[in-house]
Amino acid sequence: MRFDLFTLYFLAVGTLLLSAALTVWECQARPQRRRELRLLAAGYLMLAAGCVIATIRSELHGVFGSALGNLTFVSGYLLILNAAASFNGRRYGQLSAIMLVSLALAWIVGGATWPEGLWSYIGGIPIALAGGLTTWEMIRSRALRALRSHRLVVAVLAMHTLFYSARLFVLPALEATLGPSIMSVVAKLTMYEGVLYSVGLPMALLAVVREESHAQLLEASRKDFLTDLGNRQWFFEHGERLLHQRGADQPVSLLAFDLDHFKSINDRYGHATGDEVLKTFARIARTTLGPGAALARIGGEEFVALLPGFGRNHAREIGRVLAARFADTVPGDPRSPGLEATVSIGVAEYGMGGTTLGELLSAADRALYLAKARGRNRIELDVPLALAPAC
Ligand code: GH3
Ligand code: MG
Ligand code: MG
Repeated sequence: MRFDLFTLYFLAVGTLLLSAALTVWECQARPQRRRELRLLAAGYLMLAAGCVIATIRSELHGVFGSALGNLTFVSGYLLILNAAASFNGRRYGQLSAIMLVSLALAWIVGGATWPEGLWSYIGGIPIALAGGLTTWEMIRSRALRALRSHRLVVAVLAMHTLFYSARLFVLPALEATLGPSIMSVVAKLTMYEGVLYSVGLPMALLAVVREESHAQLLEASRKDFLTDLGNRQWFFEHGERLLHQRGADQPVSLLAFDLDHFKSINDRYGHATGDEVLKTFARIARTTLGPGAALARIGGEEFVALLPGFGRNHAREIGRVLAARFADTVPGDPRSPGLEATVSIGVAEYGMGGTTLGELLSAADRALYLAKARGRNRIELDVPLALAPAC
C-alpha cells in the first residue's frame, strides 16, 4: 500500500483534531494544568490548520498560501513551546513574536523569488528552533522529570527536533546530488514523521499530566493535611524502608510524642487554637530533628519520629531540646494569652526495643506511658520487657 502526500496530511489533521479534543477534555480532570493543556490544544489545532493550508497552498494566490501555511505551522510549534515552558512557570511570548515577525518578513522579501527554498529550508529553521527549546523546557522541568512518561515526552520531542534539524542541514546536499525529485520523497517522509509526532506527542503529554496527577494524589494520601507532615501510612512505609536500609552497626531510635492535656486546651481555647498548637509542634519538631528524621502525625495529638543514626541517649537529648522549645514557644503567642502546652515523650532504640517498626513503636509507647504516669512534660527511655517489673 502506498500513501500519497494528501493522505498523510489528511491523517495528521485527523489525529491533531482528536488530540486537541482529548487535551481540552483533560482540562476538567486537571484544572491545575488548564493553561498548559489549553496551549497544547491550541498548538495542535494550529498544526492541523497548517496541514489543511499546506494541501491547498498552490491554489491560493501567489506565495500567499505557502507563507500562510508556514506561519501557521510555526505558530502551532510556538504554542506547544509556550505550553512546555508553562509547566516550568515560564513564557516565550517575546521570542515567539520575534520569530513570527522575522518569518513573515522573510516571506515578504524572498517569497516571490525563492518560494520553495523558503518553504523547504528557511521555514524549517523556526520549527527546529521551537522544537529544540520545547525539548529543553521539558528536560529541565522539575515538576515532571521524576515521572516515567516524562522520558517519553522528551524522546518524542527530541526525535522531531533532530528530524527537522537534519532536514535543514542534509536536504540541500541531497537536492544538489540527487536533483529536485528527492524533494517529493522528503516531503512524504516529513509528513510521515509528522503523523507519528501528532500521535506520539499528545499521547505522551496526556500520560505525563495524568501521571503527575496520580503522583500528587498518592502524596496527598500519605500526608497529614493540618501539619503537612507524613501520616501514619507514610510513616509505616517510609519507616520500614529506613529500618531495612540501616547499616549493620547504625543505631536507630524512635520517639513517640503525645501532647499533654490537649483536650483541655481545646476546651478552654477552642479547636482552632488547638490546631495552631499542633502546627507549632510540627514546625518545631521538623526544625529540631532535621531532614534525616522520619516525622509523622499518627493520631490526633500524637506524633512519632524515627531517627536513623541516633542511639537512645542521643535521641533523648534531642527530644529534651524539642520539648523545651515547644514549652517555650506556645505561651509566646499573643492570640492566646495564658496558653501553655507541653509534650510527653517515649524513646526506644532498635535492638533493645524490638527489631520491627511495630515493636519499636510499642516500646516507645510504653516509655511514653511512663512519662505520662510520672507527671507529663518529660521524656522516658523504654525499659526492655525482660527488665520491666512484673505488674
Ligand atoms: P493526656 O495528657 O493524657 O494525653 O491528655 P489529652 O487531653 O492530651 O488526651 P486525650 O486523648 O484525652 O485528648 C486528646 C484530644 O485531642 C481530644 C481531641 O479532641 C483532640 N484532637 C484530636 N485531633 C485533633 C485535631 O486535629 N485538632 C484539635 N484541635 N484537636 C484534636
Ligand atoms: Mg493521645
Ligand atoms: Mg495527649
